[in-house]
Amino acid sequence: MEYECPTGKPYYDLMELLRGKNYHIMTTNQDFQFTRVVPEEKLSAIQGDSRFFQCSRRCHDELFYNHDMIYAMNDAIDENLCIPTELIPRCPKCGAELEPWVRGYTFLEGQKYRDEYRKINEFLQANKDRKILFLELGVGRMTPMFIQEPFWNLTYALPQAFYITVNPKDALLPQELSSKGLAIKGDIAIVLRDAVKTASGERMDDRYQDEN
Ligand SMILES: [Zn+2]
Repeated sequence: MEYECPTGKPYYDLMELLRGKNYHIMTTNQDFQFTRVVPEEKLSAIQGDSRFFQCSRRCHDELFYNHDMIYAMNDAIDENLCIPTELIPRCPKCGAELEPWVRGYTFLEGQKYRDEYRKINEFLQANKDRKILFLELGVGRMTPMFIQEPFWNLTYALPQAFYITVNPKDALLPQELSSKGLAIKGDIAIVLRDAVKTASGERMDDRYQDEN
């Protein structure tokens, strides 16, 4: 289950590259792996977060941290792969089933959803006139409207912005950004690993020069 799946190495490599830098992370991942390496205030999970349940009828704007419910259900799975009816999580207000707070037809766009956008918007507001890099990792063409197209528009509009996309097959750079962007067609894990290697090599060089 997601509570126990190990955090992938690319997450650690990315954080190593961001060490000491002013950054914000916007993700459509719902598996909350980023929460293990990034403080919540620096993370905008705009497509939901499966650590939380919502009412499937959206009868009210409350999210329920589901860790204990998930473990109780998991522990109660019997030999027929069923769980007792009373363990099925239900909305305390209307009695409908609870469901994961992730993008779907009934996705709850309430307080927490707005809060995710508040965090990224505050970061952009504070940094829009500085040198800013929009680094897009593995977004692809399925849901370009959440990260890719906003990144393109912001890079185009902000004077000191630059855009890099890393994608194994859909590394696209719009013509309008040809002088403000870079498309790297490659495996994110390998690109990040190599970038960490290069960056740490440069840090070593700096230290060598400081000492001499
Ligand atoms: Zn309800």
